[in-house]
Amino acid sequence: MRAVASAKAAMDAKEALAIHNYAKFGVPAEQVPVEARTIWFRTTWRNGAEQVCLRTRLGLWAAVPGTSKHEWGMAVDLEDWGPHNAGVDIGFMRANGWCPTVRSEPWHLEYRPLLVKIGEAGRCIK
Ligand SMILES: [Zn+2]
Repeated sequence: MRAVASAKAAMDAKEALAIHNYAKFGVPAEQVPVEARTIWFRTTWRNGAEQVCLRTRLGLWAAVPGTSKHEWGMAVDLEDWGPHNAGVDIGFMRANGWCPTVRSEPWHLEYRPLLVKIGEAGRCIK
């Protein structure tokens, strides 16, 4: 649940900043574009059957079923992770305890406090 709460905190922080920034131009909070105040997730938790399906379809590109941090509730994939927003969403997620762990998948973030707990904090990419 801490991972969920921290993702929500990241989303709340992005929304608060967007509302603050748009207010400087006289835009009321309810008119701030959803794109400016939302962190979109492509994938969050997935169950074992979904991981088996992914592994079958993607082969080595998908984790062995039972080993994916998505199955453990420790990973999310951002929908808009960088090219269009200069990494803004990753910044909010990092500030709330999430870190990228797969160099070839910059959209994939894992919850660092849980990585620390299982001795895998070194997976975080600086
Ligand atoms: Zn992922």
